[in-house]
Amino acid sequence: MLIFTTAAELRAYAEQARAAGRRLGLVPTMGALHEGHLQLVRAAAQACDEVIASVFVNPTQFNNPDDLRLYPRLPEQDAAALAPAGCTVLFMPTVSEVYPQPAVLRFDFGALEQVMEGAHRPGHFNGVATVVSKLFHLARPHVAYFGQKDFQQVAIVRQLIADLSFDLKLVVFPTVREVDGLAMSSRNARLSPAARAVAPLLYQVLQQAATQVRLGVPPAQVQQQALAALAQESAFIPEYIEVADAHSLQPITSYEAGRPVVLCVAAHLGGVRLIDNMVVE
Ligand code: AMP
Repeated sequence: MLIFTTAAELRAYAEQARAAGRRLGLVPTMGALHEGHLQLVRAAAQACDEVIASVFVNPTQFNNPDDLRLYPRLPEQDAAALAPAGCTVLFMPTVSEVYPQPAVLRFDFGALEQVMEGAHRPGHFNGVATVVSKLFHLARPHVAYFGQKDFQQVAIVRQLIADLSFDLKLVVFPTVREVDGLAMSSRNARLSPAARAVAPLLYQVLQQAATQVRLGVPPAQVQQQALAALAQESAFIPEYIEVADAHSLQPITSYEAGRPVVLCVAAHLGGVRLIDNMVVE
């Protein structure tokens, strides 16, 4: 596995590999890798000749300085996990390498970013779109791999690819969970044992809400009951629970046949912000 820290190295390598007819897969990450990340890498390794994984804690997508400061950073461990998963190129740049000067360009995804993560984390998707665009330009992937764990991020990246005509295929992978249902996340490492013990409630609440959606319980009632269920565990501070259209991500007031619904939740637990989601077809 090659390790590049400069944009120039990655760009030159990717261009050469492309010219040689090799198929390139890109897996962007912020590191502190877990099985969710590694499944994306393995899938890329099966479908592509080169798997480029990036490990970069992107400051422009953090709206909370403490969250950025406390974000787990485990570069050696990440490098050791990536090679056996089939990664051929690891891109680990510094902040000044990715942002030699602050980006001035601002993205506006309209209604897509005015809900959920976009509404609660001002500037978050601008930072995501900036770094993802940079990575697409540098790594020149034929295929980019993202996780459904970040449901709204996938919608934003899909829009970015369409609007800027990025010539690549987006592959989305289902959320990988711990055995008790908690969605794997780098931030889980920051949970205290007590918080970790109650954390699966987030998934249970989503499951209960999904059952209610299937039974036709009105969205407002589903939302209310999910909030009440989460409130039973006082350690949780809910930020939002939304019942939304899975394509537009806009909250819904009723169900329409053939239109999938997505349930999205964000909550704080012992100072750690957790998100999860579930699609109901
Ligand atoms: P992150 O390092 O958290 O920015 O995530 C990097 C990529 O891995 C994103 O596309 C995430 O959606 C994806 N990812 C993170 N956690 C999971 C998970 N539990 N299951 C599947 N994909 C995930």
